[in-house]
Amino acid sequence: MTSLSLKGVRKSYGNLPVIKGVDLTVESREFVVFVGPSGCGKSTLLRMIAGLESITAGDLEIGGKRMNDVDPSKRGIAMVFQSYALYPHMTVRENMGFALRFAGKPKDEIARQVNEAARILELGPLLDRLPAQLSGGQRQRVAIGRAIVRHPDVFLFDEPLSNLDAELRVHMRIELARLHRELQATIIYVTHDQVEAMTLADKIVVLREGEVAQVGTPLQLYDDPDNLFVAGFIGSPKMNFLAGEVVEAGAGSATVALVNHGGARLAKPLSGPLPETGDAVTIGIRPEHFGEAGASTDLSLAVDVAEHLGSTTFVYANAGGERLIIEREERHMGDSDTIAVSIPIEAALLFDAAGKRLR
Ligand code: ADP
Repeated sequence: MTSLSLKGVRKSYGNLPVIKGVDLTVESREFVVFVGPSGCGKSTLLRMIAGLESITAGDLEIGGKRMNDVDPSKRGIAMVFQSYALYPHMTVRENMGFALRFAGKPKDEIARQVNEAARILELGPLLDRLPAQLSGGQRQRVAIGRAIVRHPDVFLFDEPLSNLDAELRVHMRIELARLHRELQATIIYVTHDQVEAMTLADKIVVLREGEVAQVGTPLQLYDDPDNLFVAGFIGSPKMNFLAGEVVEAGAGSATVALVNHGGARLAKPLSGPLPETGDAVTIGIRPEHFGEAGASTDLSLAVDVAEHLGSTTFVYANAGGERLIIEREERHMGDSDTIAVSIPIEAALLFDAAGKRLR
């Protein structure tokens, strides 16, 4: 199996830069997910790796070999598209064997590879059907089967689940995780869905406007975001952001007044450079991290709506024009008009005015 690296990779369409210098290593057998909002450059980056887009500057290496100018068919990759791209007049068996037939492989080898892929993907009973006789999920499995039979060094997936309904997406997500384990393959996977990224990835690459916002394991990004963008993008419901102003900074700690919450203050120990008194900052706290009132930083909020999901409750509440989401395990939250919560210091994250994390 092969590792892959991008070094200072850029892409411009005319004068318009869309990938602005990406450095990244994908280890052998790693499941790497590119995630970010629509238009951030995920597909472009994947298509550059596949060889479907030229690379304006920088180097792409696969297995230690520079691939910038190598024909897509010789890069050792196989791509699975959102749109399946199956041949409608061919059976599942013929669709899966097509690339091998095209490459002039002997019949018995094609049959062996197709049967093996069908076993892995549980497509055995469907091999003689046409694509029109399959469900969306089954079609997507055939598209994956077409990639598997080629034994690529690297699988590239471009939003493969976005045409499926919610239930099927969850099912296919689990299938893909199982497939990765069984194939021991190197996978690069593009999605705009942060839940898909969190559940599938060994390593997530969050992209923003053609640049890498942060790279890390799902839980590193969730627990320890480098910036406001990643903090807000990863996690559902989203991290809460509260406006703050530094009222005192010194001796490894910054005291922040919460602008919209009366006199509430929060003193956060910081090991890095301290902000200055008067600086605007943002305090981030996840819905599940609010504590019971009675601690040092208490907020009193007007309850807007409470969503009772059974296993958990989301309370939407606000104060001073700031809307917050609070997650509580106990039921019957939101029966009263107000809720009092505290912000535990250790769970609060600070960001400077430019959105950079203060650590
Ligand atoms: P994503 O996959 O993250 O939604 P894309 O990689 O498709 O984003 O696109 C990144 C940016 O590049 C977008 O702003 C898009 O409009 C632009 N773009 C993509 N393809 C072309 C093209 N062929 N010509 C000009 N701009 C393009």
